[in-house]
Amino acid sequence: MSEKKWVYLFNEIEEAEKYAGSWDGVRGLMGGKGANLAEMTRIGVPVPPFFTVTTEACNAFLANDNQFPEGMWEQSLESLKGVEKAAGKKFGDPKNPLLVSCRSGAKMSMPGMMDTVLNIGLNDETAEGMVKITENERFVYDAYRRLIAMFGSVVLGINDEKFEAVLEEVKTEKKAEADTDLTADDLKELVSKFKAVVKKEKGFDFPNDPVEQMRLATEAVFSSWNVKRAVDYRKAANIPDDLGTAVNICTMVFGNSGWESGTGVAFTRNPSTGEKVLFGEYLLNAQGEDVVAGIRNTQKIQDMEKVLPEAYKQFIDITQKLEDHYKEMQDVEFTIESGRLWMLQTRNGKRTAKAAVKIAVDMANEDFITKEEAISRVTPTQVDTLLHPQFLGDTLSNAREAGKQFASGVNASPGAAVGQVYFDADTAERMANEEGQDVIMVRPFTKPDDVHGMLASKGILTSEGGATSHAAVVARQFGVPCVVGASMVKIDLSTRQLESNGVVVKEGDWISIDGGTGEAFLGKIEVTAPSLEEQTDLLTLLSWADEICAEPGIRDVPEGWPTTGLQVWANADYPADAERARAYGAKGIGLCRTEHMFFEQERLPSVQRMILAKTIEEREEALAELLPHQRSDFEGLFKAMDGYPVIIRLIDPPLHEFLPSEESLLEEVITMRVKGETKGLAEKEALLESVRSMHESNPMMGLRGIRLSVVMPQIVEMQVRAIFEAAANMKNQGVDAKPEVMIPLTGHINELNHIQPRLIEIAKEVMKEKKVNFEYKFGTMIEIPRAALTAGEIASVAEFFSFGTNDLTQMTFGYSRDDAERNFLVTYVEEEILPRNPFQSVDQDGVGRLMKMSVEEGRATRNNLEVGICGEHGGDPDSIDFCHRIGQNYVSCSPFRVPVARLAAAHAAIKHSAKK
Ligand code: PEP
Ligand code: MG
Repeated sequence: MSEKKWVYLFNEIEEAEKYAGSWDGVRGLMGGKGANLAEMTRIGVPVPPFFTVTTEACNAFLANDNQFPEGMWEQSLESLKGVEKAAGKKFGDPKNPLLVSCRSGAKMSMPGMMDTVLNIGLNDETAEGMVKITENERFVYDAYRRLIAMFGSVVLGINDEKFEAVLEEVKTEKKAEADTDLTADDLKELVSKFKAVVKKEKGFDFPNDPVEQMRLATEAVFSSWNVKRAVDYRKAANIPDDLGTAVNICTMVFGNSGWESGTGVAFTRNPSTGEKVLFGEYLLNAQGEDVVAGIRNTQKIQDMEKVLPEAYKQFIDITQKLEDHYKEMQDVEFTIESGRLWMLQTRNGKRTAKAAVKIAVDMANEDFITKEEAISRVTPTQVDTLLHPQFLGDTLSNAREAGKQFASGVNASPGAAVGQVYFDADTAERMANEEGQDVIMVRPFTKPDDVHGMLASKGILTSEGGATSHAAVVARQFGVPCVVGASMVKIDLSTRQLESNGVVVKEGDWISIDGGTGEAFLGKIEVTAPSLEEQTDLLTLLSWADEICAEPGIRDVPEGWPTTGLQVWANADYPADAERARAYGAKGIGLCRTEHMFFEQERLPSVQRMILAKTIEEREEALAELLPHQRSDFEGLFKAMDGYPVIIRLIDPPLHEFLPSEESLLEEVITMRVKGETKGLAEKEALLESVRSMHESNPMMGLRGIRLSVVMPQIVEMQVRAIFEAAANMKNQGVDAKPEVMIPLTGHINELNHIQPRLIEIAKEVMKEKKVNFEYKFGTMIEIPRAALTAGEIASVAEFFSFGTNDLTQMTFGYSRDDAERNFLVTYVEEEILPRNPFQSVDQDGVGRLMKMSVEEGRATRNNLEVGICGEHGGDPDSIDFCHRIGQNYVSCSPFRVPVARLAAAHAAIKHSAKK
C-alpha cells in the first residue's frame, strides 16, 4: 500500500497535478504560493530550492489535536535532503549550512495573515560556519537576530514589542539611526540579548537544533490558520474555513548580504490605476519584511536599473514572462543575493476596482484574453465600488484653498471617505459597529492584527509605509479609501491626538481623506456619486457584457423560450429615474410603482378625497383630478424609455397608507376637544371615523393589490386610461411607447378574469379615441404562493409574469418583510439557520422552486410568456444567476444597481453557456 503523500519537492508538480486533477486542485493542495513556486521552477524561472507540505497535512494536523499526520514529518526530512542536494548545502552543518524559511501559503492569498519564519537553521555553530564562508560577520548576525525575534514572536508567542524594545535600546546606546548602522558586534550583542528575552519570557532556551526549529515553525504555521486575524480576513474575503494552509520550506537567499544585494516587491501593472507599467519598490541590503512592513523608505523599482543593471534587466524579462504565462497581472517578490536574482513568489496581483476593469479591458484589447475572460475577471462588487462616492468638481480645490488640507501621502486606495478619527483598530471597529459612526482609522502603519478595524472603517490614513505596505494592499482589496506614508502626521497614542503641519486632530474629530489624490483634510467634505459616463473602460466592459447576454443560443432552454441571456431592466417611478436607468444601460422598466406618484403634495388631497368619497360620482371627480398628473408622469417614462418596454403597476398598497394614522388623528381630535376648538373638528372626527372603519389587523394581507381593484375598480380604470392616453400622446409625437400594464397581488385566476377584460376595453377605447394603435401587454405579478402554484392557469390570462420576490419571500416563509430583520433574521443568519437573508438573495430551494415552477407551467400554457423579477433580489448577483438558470427574460432592479446587474447577467451567461 502506498503511503499518503503529504510533501512535494520543488520538481514534483506533475505528481501534484496527477493527484489533484487540475491547476485549481494543485493550488488547493499546495497553496497558491507553493503551486506558483513549483510552476515557476517548471518554466525555468530561478527559484531557490524548496518543498511544500500540503494543506491536507494542515487539515489533518488541526483535526488531530495539533499532531502531524503519520509519515508527514519523515517525508519532510526526506524532501529536505532533496533541497540540500539542489542547494549544495547541508541543514545544520557548520561547514556549509543551509538556512530555510518556513512560509504559510493558502489556496487564496491572505497577505500577512498567517505566519512566516526566516533564517531557520541558524545556531551558534552554524552562524560561525557561515561567517567563515561569507566573511561577513555583520550579515550573519543580522540574520541570526532576525531568526530569534521572528521565532520568538511567531512560534513561541512572545509579544514582538519585547524584541523591538531591546533593538531600540541597543540602537540608542550605539547611536545608530537605522538598523543598517549597527555593527557586527552590536548585532552579536543583540543576539544574546534576544536569547535572554526568550529565556525570560518562556523559561527555556531558544532551540539550538535546526530540525527542532523547522518542526516547531511548521506547527506554528499550521496553527496560524486559526488565529483571529486570519479568521476575520477569511470571513471578509469569503474564503472557506476548511481550506487549510500549506507550509513552504524554502532555501534562504539573502537580500541583506551587502550592497550588491537587495529585495523588493513589484506588480506587473499598476494595481491602483491598472496602467501597464511595472510598479514596485525595493531596498538594497535588506530582507523582504523591511519592504512589506513599510518601515524603511523604499526606492522605486525603476531606480534599480542604475545600481544593479544586470539583475534589473533579468527581472524585467522574468516579470514579462510571468505575465505572459499566467495571462494575469502578477504580484512578485524577489531577492538579489550578491548580484544574483531569485524569485520568491508570484501570484495574481490584488488591485483596485478601477485597475481590475482597466487591466481586464486592456488585456482583452491586447488579445491576451477573451472578452468573456475579461468579464469574468471583474466582480459585481468591483463595479459597485466604482459607482461609490468620490469628491467631485471643485470640492477638493476649495478645501485646499480654505487651508483645510493637513497632510498628504501616497494615494494607496482610491475613493472618498469622511469620518471620525480613531487611533486603534479595536476602537475603530467598536465606534463603527456599535455606535454606527463613520470612522477613519489613523495609525503609524497597520499590521495584520488591525484588519478588523480597517474593514469597519470608511477610510485609512497611515503616517508610514508605501504603496505596497500592508495598509495599502488590504485597503485596495476591500475597496476602502486609503492614504499611506503621510510622514508629516505625528501620532501621539498617549494623548490620542495627531499633529500635522501645526494642526491638531483629536480622537473623534471629523476628517476627510481622498485615497485617489493621497490627501487628508480637516472636517467633512461633500461626497458625490461618480458618473458612469466618464468611466470609459467600465462602459466598454459592460457593453461586452451586454453583447454576451444578447447572443442567441447562449442559453440551453426548451423550445420557444429565450435563448439569449438575461436583459437588465430597472425599477423606476419617475421620468428622471427612468433617464438614469437608461443611461446606466437598462433595456426597459420592470416596475413603476404608481402609488408613489400619489404621495406628492399637490396630489395627496385628491387621493384622500377619492378614498373618502361617499358616492361613486364624488370618487370619479377626485380621480379625474389625478388623471392628468398620472398621464404626464407616464408620458415622461415612455419618452425616457423610447423603444423599450415600460411596465406600469396598478395601485398596490392598502388605501389607509394615504391617510393620516389613527393615532395622530386621535391626538389631534383630543387636543381640539380639550382646547375647545370647534373649527374643523367635525371634519377631523369624520376622517378619524373613516380611518377606523378601514382598519385591518393585517393590512399587508388585506384589501390591497388586485383585491382593491375588484372592490373599487374606479382607481385602476383611471390609471389604465392615464397609461394609454400617455402612450397614445407619445406615439402621436413619434415616441415608440411600449406599455405593459401589471396587476399586483393576484392569487386566483378569477380575480384576473374579473378585472382584466374591463381594463383591456379601456385601452382599446383610448386607442380608438386617439386614433392610434400600438402593442401592449397585460400581465401580473407572481408574489403570492397560490399564484405560483396555479401559474399555468394564470398564464392563460396574463401575458407576462413579474416575480415580486419581496412579497413572495414574505408569504412563502411567513416572515414579515418589515420586521423580520429587526427581530430574528439577523440571528438566523448568524446561527446559520438560514444561509443568507432571504430578503436579499432569493431562497433558491423554497421561493426559487415556486419561481421555477411558475416559469415552466406558465410557458406550458403560453409559450412566449415574458417573465422577469422586480423584487429587491433583481440586483443581487446570485439571484440573477438563478433567474438566468430558470429561463427568465429579464431582471429589474434599481437604476444604480443596473451596471452591477449587467455584469452579473453576463457572468451567468458565461458560466452556464450552452456554447461551451
Ligand atoms: C415585491 O413584492 O417584490 C414587489 C416588487 O412589490 P412591492 O415591493 O412594491 O410590494
Ligand atoms: Mg409586492
